[in-house]
Amino acid sequence: MNYDVIIIGGGLGGLCAGAKLAKEGKQILLLEQHDRPGGCATTFTRREFTMEVGLHEMDGLHPSDGKTKMFNDLGLFDGVEYLPLPEFYRFFNGRTDLVMPHDQEKARALLKAHFPGEKAGIDAYFHRLMNARRINVMERDQPDISVGEFLDATFTSEEIKLVLLGNLGYFHDDPYGLSLRYFSMAESAFFQGRANFIQGGSQQLSDKLVSIIRAHGGKVLLNHRVTSIDAEAGKINSVRFINTQPGDHSLVEARAKDFIANAALPLVSDMIQVPAGERLSEEISGQRLGASLLTVYYGFSTSLKTLGHFHYSTFVFDGSVRTQKDIRANNRDDFSRRGFTFVDYSQVDSRLAPEGKSVGAICCIDYLDDWKDLSKEAYSAKKQLVGEHLTERLEQLIPGCREHIAHMEVGTSKTVHRYTGNPGGAVYGFAQVPNRPKLTSLEGIENLHVASAWGKFGGGFSGALFSGYMTAMDLLRRSG
Ligand SMILES: Cc1cc2nc3c(=O)[nH]c(=O)nc-3n(C[C@H](O)[C@H](O)[C@H](O)COP(=O)(O)OP(=O)(O)OC[C@H]3O[C@@H](n4cnc5c(N)ncnc54)[C@H](O)[C@@H]3O)c2cc1C
Repeated sequence: MNYDVIIIGGGLGGLCAGAKLAKEGKQILLLEQHDRPGGCATTFTRREFTMEVGLHEMDGLHPSDGKTKMFNDLGLFDGVEYLPLPEFYRFFNGRTDLVMPHDQEKARALLKAHFPGEKAGIDAYFHRLMNARRINVMERDQPDISVGEFLDATFTSEEIKLVLLGNLGYFHDDPYGLSLRYFSMAESAFFQGRANFIQGGSQQLSDKLVSIIRAHGGKVLLNHRVTSIDAEAGKINSVRFINTQPGDHSLVEARAKDFIANAALPLVSDMIQVPAGERLSEEISGQRLGASLLTVYYGFSTSLKTLGHFHYSTFVFDGSVRTQKDIRANNRDDFSRRGFTFVDYSQVDSRLAPEGKSVGAICCIDYLDDWKDLSKEAYSAKKQLVGEHLTERLEQLIPGCREHIAHMEVGTSKTVHRYTGNPGGAVYGFAQVPNRPKLTSLEGIENLHVASAWGKFGGGFSGALFSGYMTAMDLLRRSG
């Protein structure tokens, strides 16, 4: 079997690259080990509920967003509904309760009203964010700093720093370990006025991308895992893969001119024969793994609006977190104190539950280390306990919600690891630390390209989709 491009992994980055390349006439083979496409951008069904694995909010899709052009090009607006969200996030820590809008002018005004002594800092903060691209280019020869350092230099009140770090978990677990350049680009995308949920869940987008690949003659094989990658003289020749379903497990080989890694880069480097695989491992060895997440999935027998809850996304910080220096330790703290976000999908027409019922999710930073070496029973018991702690805190936030829980289950970093293979259960690829060496191209192997959260745009829906699209564009340019 010979193809123009073989894509290893069917997460958003791989699917987006595949859709663009197939649309432009390339012969594509995409191999995904799971029984559904999307990686973190998938859903699963429990009773009458559709549980969203990974999407709380996707920034953008306003006229000047780069994704709007990409979505138009690929036809991703046809048959998929993107629901504008009512707000960026609500921040709550027992001292401050504030709803951050997506519009930066409104956000500025709100913050100035709450923190009148910080007006100059608020202007400086939004100036840095809203001009991120230009400033990052201007300052490219100077060392990057962390978000924590930037906030310390900009504000005197610790409380406003915490409010602005409400959604830190979208990127990392520690403000002092997160690149200001990366954060300012990513966070400003949320302050351009719009972010979205996908009606019916992110599986709709993943399925749409598959349908585009197939409509243009590309092949998408689900339940097929790549097991090894054959390389010679700095070039990949072929991949070998197996069907993961019961039955025939014989190895199949497929060849191509170019290969795209959507599966986590450390996994891909382990699959490539030495010495090329070793060279790639060396190239990525200086990179730290990014954060993982734990999610408690809820199906409720009512819309939480009936209980007086009117916020889509609420970030809850424990009262003991008083400065941004406390955040890192809090993310390792007991789940009865660890910061979390609660997403109430019934605040939009999500179609994740039947009329009158709803779906919600608690999400917090999680570490694979905390779940290792547990027996099956101990793992289940620990998950149950964590679920109870977090549900107790949800009940404090939304009194009465507990008695409407029709289904609850916990997915941990171990779950992410099991389904995607991502080392550490990382959901955003490599950690975006200041001055991170950029993997713009892989030096070691000339026909291996990256389309995922592990590439130069980082993680999240936008990062993975951009990575896929730009990699496809690059390949199309090279092939003329
Ligand atoms: C709980 C949770 C909440 C999140 N919330 C948000 C959010 O609100 N907004 C946002 O923008 N982002 C969010 N994210 C992050 C976002 O979903 C991811 O960063 C993004 O989807 C990653 O896409 P990716 O293309 O890098 O691949 P991944 O989703 O990591 O998928 C990689 C794919 O490769 C496949 N694979 C691995 N090895 C092989 C192999 N050997 N052979 C074949 N296939 C293989 C895997 O099965 C997987 O499907 C969240 C993620 C999670 C888990």
